[in-house]
Amino acid sequence: MPKPNPRHPDFPIPGGPEKRAKSWRAEGLLRLMENVLAVGEAPDKLIVYAALGKAARSWPAHDAIVRTLSEMDEDQTLIIQSGKPVGLLKTSAAAPMVIMANCNIVGQWAKAEVFYDLERKGLICWGGLTAGAWQYIGSQGVIQGTYEIFMRIAERRFNGSLKGRFILTAGLGGMGGAQPLAGRMAGAAILCIDIDPKRAEMRKEIGFLDEIAPDLDTALKMIEEAKAEGRATSIALIGNAAEIYPEIAARGIVPDIVTDQTSAHDLVYGYVPAGYDLDRVRRLRDQNPDELIEGGRKSIARHVAAMLEFQQKGAEVFDNGNLIRTQAKQGGIENAFDIPIFTEAYLRPLFARAIGPFRWMALSGEADDIAKIDDLVLQMFPDNKIVTNWIKLARENVPFEGLPARIAWLGHGERTALARAVNKMVADGTLAGPVAFSRDHLDAGAMAHPNIMTENMRDGSDAIADWPLLDAMTLCASGADLVAVHSGGGGYAGYMTSAGVTVIADGTDEADARLDHALTNDTSLGVIRYADAGYEDALDEAAKKQIGHIRL
Ligand code: NAD
Repeated sequence: MPKPNPRHPDFPIPGGPEKRAKSWRAEGLLRLMENVLAVGEAPDKLIVYAALGKAARSWPAHDAIVRTLSEMDEDQTLIIQSGKPVGLLKTSAAAPMVIMANCNIVGQWAKAEVFYDLERKGLICWGGLTAGAWQYIGSQGVIQGTYEIFMRIAERRFNGSLKGRFILTAGLGGMGGAQPLAGRMAGAAILCIDIDPKRAEMRKEIGFLDEIAPDLDTALKMIEEAKAEGRATSIALIGNAAEIYPEIAARGIVPDIVTDQTSAHDLVYGYVPAGYDLDRVRRLRDQNPDELIEGGRKSIARHVAAMLEFQQKGAEVFDNGNLIRTQAKQGGIENAFDIPIFTEAYLRPLFARAIGPFRWMALSGEADDIAKIDDLVLQMFPDNKIVTNWIKLARENVPFEGLPARIAWLGHGERTALARAVNKMVADGTLAGPVAFSRDHLDAGAMAHPNIMTENMRDGSDAIADWPLLDAMTLCASGADLVAVHSGGGGYAGYMTSAGVTVIADGTDEADARLDHALTNDTSLGVIRYADAGYEDALDEAAKKQIGHIRL
């Protein structure tokens, strides 16, 4: 039985032992689509996160997806083009149930204005990364990534601890909403600015945020007190980051860490320029989007100038994947790229070994299934400090939002071993139902994004999109249940290409083979991508684990 969803009462959280589809593979994918809406930001508009990231193109497209997944056989494949089902083809039981391509625009035309035009005509929709591919699990999906970034900074700059340290950031949306919890889990005092009071209230309600300060003076006092006591806390302040960051800098206050996760990638439907209220912005989206683009760039220039000032005064400042530097450069801040991107600065050694944001969702809807898998992870990987530390922290601190789910940064071999062990637990009835395995598109072999994932690659291969395309084809050849190829939309137009994958562990031998091939080959390709670019960690991993890397 689906469970009530207090946040969006019209979008219950799927679950229960009864399936509507003919197979658990199709039922699982159907539940995942329902889940991204249940945990999404504006499900009535099919929006999951990041301003325009949608689960389906339109309500008729959504209904047709539900109908087809409910009726299709296991030897058929549903083809989805930018959130719209366009074909149900006879393939084989070893082929994916769903393949999709979302928002891929031919190079010369891959510009924001072309995307907006196609979007208005109903010809395309943006799937974000995990929204259109039904892999989003609420803010938890980025919590560990954000937490690991904070901990890498702690190791490098603050003797391994963020106790008594001040993190300044902005954006409490679908992804950015993970920041206050990740900061608190890392032991810091974190201040998060957002222009929309509703976003802050919601994060507080679901336990991701401690308090909302009434004004800047109070917010800074609360941070000072927490720092002095070495107390971890998360505080939100309602306001525009482009005004508040410069104000904090003008007071001579230098946070220890500064970043930003406003929706700066999208100047029409996302970022709110300084001096504008939300109602005016909503009106201008239809009436005068150019005013918003111009105002947004000016505002981001101020916003990033303050970030650069913090950096010059000694703060650790990084771009957290929202294209804010790119927009600032276009707005006239020549040295915006003095701010490093988080992937290159902190996570590349992990990606070189294909260690990345792996995740699993209990399709039964039972939290106990995740608890049992948590125990299994601790038992299987006792020497993996990142993962054991994370699982212990996550089970205490991270509330489930929709389907109970867990994210953990596991690497080559580990993902496959875990998924196959879980498939056995589904088969022998230890778990209440099947489990879906997936990962973020921001993964070793899965993303080409020269301003986020592949910035400053050692061999200069930043802009080559062959890798995610090869990854998607490899995943199809390996029998994954869902394979997606995504590209940018909005401010993201032409900025990236990525591949997504989901495999359902339904307890069968066939699922065991699919998990083995798809998950192993996905991480193999990840290691190969970094080995090919000359990273020693990847070459070492490829040799040690006998990944089929061909060296010339
Ligand atoms: P969202 O649209 O759900 O939320 C954005 C938030 O920013 C909203 O709450 C909005 O009110 C706030 N905001 C907008 N302009 C503001 C301003 N000037 N001052 C203060 N607040 C402002 O978006 P999201 O899903 O949270 O994603 C945020 C950004 O992070 C996007 O650009 C997204 O592409 C990027 N992202 C990065 C990663 C990563 O791996 N690091 C992952 C996912 C998303």
